[in-house]
Amino acid sequence: MKMLLANAEAWPGFDTTVGLLKQGGASIAAMVSGIAKVEREAKVRSVGYGGWPNMLGEMEFDAGVMDGATRDVGAVGAVPATLPVSALAYEVMQHLPHVMLTGAGARRFASERGFAVDEVLHPDSKRVWWERLQKEMSPEQLAAFPDIALAPLSNAITDPERVRDTTVFLGRDATDNIGVVTSTSGWAWKYPGRLGDSPIPGAGFYADSRYGAAACTHTGEMTMRCGTSRSIVLAMRLGYSLQDAIKLAVEELSELKSGFLAGVVIHAIDAKGNHQVVNYRCEEEIRYWYWDERMAAPELRVAAQA
Ligand code: ASP
Repeated sequence: MKMLLANAEAWPGFDTTVGLLKQGGASIAAMVSGIAKVEREAKVRSVGYGGWPNMLGEMEFDAGVMDGATRDVGAVGAVPATLPVSALAYEVMQHLPHVMLTGAGARRFASERGFAVDEVLHPDSKRVWWERLQKEMSPEQLAAFPDIALAPLSNAITDPERVRDTTVFLGRDATDNIGVVTSTSGWAWKYPGRLGDSPIPGAGFYADSRYGAAACTHTGEMTMRCGTSRSIVLAMRLGYSLQDAIKLAVEELSELKSGFLAGVVIHAIDAKGNHQVVNYRCEEEIRYWYWDERMAAPELRVAAQA
């Protein structure tokens, strides 16, 4: 059964991917086309052009793709000046023997593959970044910026007003191949060079067409420690239902007692056509898009509480 699951902010590209899946398109290619529209939409304030910069006011994008038929993965991290970055991750998967590129090397590869050098800092993001950072800095730090130690500004890194999010697409095509694609600008005001979970296979995403797929949003610092997406797919391989596999992953997250602890949203599908989205400790209501071929149109639904 063809199906597509994505987070609420996937709206600019969800219908594009559904349309391609309906026409018989392959899951990864269809999802990369849809997520590119999300990355270019300035109103989506967590991904691509509408996302938030790092502490130096520079955009650094993370993305990953995984093909559940072959377990091939492509990922890019902390990539400057490039949109759509999920398409670049797909290029890594198709054209290199590597799984992941970061920073300047990823940008170099982008140019080799014909990606333009994009202006990626939205003027409003620049304004909000500078206002927020100024609040955190002493007059001495302000005068010397950016030649200051950034780590002491970590209150800014965990800005509660800028909710972390990622766009995740999990899909199944006409050949029952399951794939997953992720893209994000990461945490607002993150330390330069920081990678979240969105480009990390096993943490932010994982797919195996025989069992299912999972992808996480929000606090990557937790899912990287637990290998959350891989836990879910491995649990299904070991015979857990989708619900029980997610329950196990939530149990692992709740066993973390140190470090930065906040909310995580788990999105998962199984090879039998089930899906579930679970909100673990996020205060806001979490919604998601879902479509399968039995439905006339995609629906925006509310996630279950863990
Ligand atoms: N999980 C992503 C990260 O840690 C961001 C997010 O989904 O909020 O970078």
